[in-house]
Amino acid sequence: MGDGLRIELARVYGFCPGVRRAVQMVEDHLAREGPLATLGAIVHNAHVVEALQEKGARVAGGVCEVGEPTVAITAHGAGQEIYREIQERGLKLVDTTCPIVKRAQEAARALAQGGYTVLIYGEESHPEVRGILSWTEGKGHATMSPDDLPELATKKLAIVSQTTKDQKAFWGFVREVIARVHPALKDLRVVDTTCPETGRRYQAAVELAREVEAIFVVGSRNSANTRKLAETCRGTGVRTYFIESAEEIEPGWLSGLSRVGVTAGASTPDEVIDQVLRRLSQLGGEAA
Ligand code: SF4
Repeated sequence: MGDGLRIELARVYGFCPGVRRAVQMVEDHLAREGPLATLGAIVHNAHVVEALQEKGARVAGGVCEVGEPTVAITAHGAGQEIYREIQERGLKLVDTTCPIVKRAQEAARALAQGGYTVLIYGEESHPEVRGILSWTEGKGHATMSPDDLPELATKKLAIVSQTTKDQKAFWGFVREVIARVHPALKDLRVVDTTCPETGRRYQAAVELAREVEAIFVVGSRNSANTRKLAETCRGTGVRTYFIESAEEIEPGWLSGLSRVGVTAGASTPDEVIDQVLRRLSQLGGEAA
């Protein structure tokens, strides 16, 4: 480890506003009213899920598994049948659906009601996409590739996106779809429902990766978003360490370095990032 090792943080990193808000809403409920069940993990991060579990937030696989008086929908949102089930069972709801996801659901619902076939650019198996699909009441299709477009016997087509998809890739998809379904198409509506937050983290990570000799990407290995962040950093050619916690850092990794960077995925809590920064300082680093 060299003298004067500088530690630099990415311009944007860690929790996005939607996840921060969801965790806060669950914590507020736990403090005020006690235990609740969350429909899936509130964040794709084991540290946060365990900490919330200790305070009384149990992860349930579906509404039928909820024994608590209150249930929380995650920031990914949910389909309308879930809302119905919650109501039928008389459960209290803490709805942490991110406002950006809500906007995508509302756009899909309004378009389907307006007679449009709604194409969702996203992965059909993703909970957010399943939720958006449900709001189209059978008039939606999810796909990631213009090669698997469903039979579109429609003159009115609308396209929306899974919020975490890359904006440029979304518009590329839109162009491909237009080229393929034209000229039958008479009416096309495109609502760009991509969220800028994920892209901002990638961009800031690339900028930092170009400035430093090694970069630490902090987050859960089961977070697709953090994995992609690490791949993006690796793609710049910088030495990249994808770590879940501060303890994984080996002193030898810093040997001979004078500038290292730190970034974190949108599901990584502040405490874990702080622990990484502390460990780097103990190993001789100084925050820039
Ligand atoms: S990434 Fe964007 S859409 Fe998803 S929860 Fe965060 S702020 Fe909301």
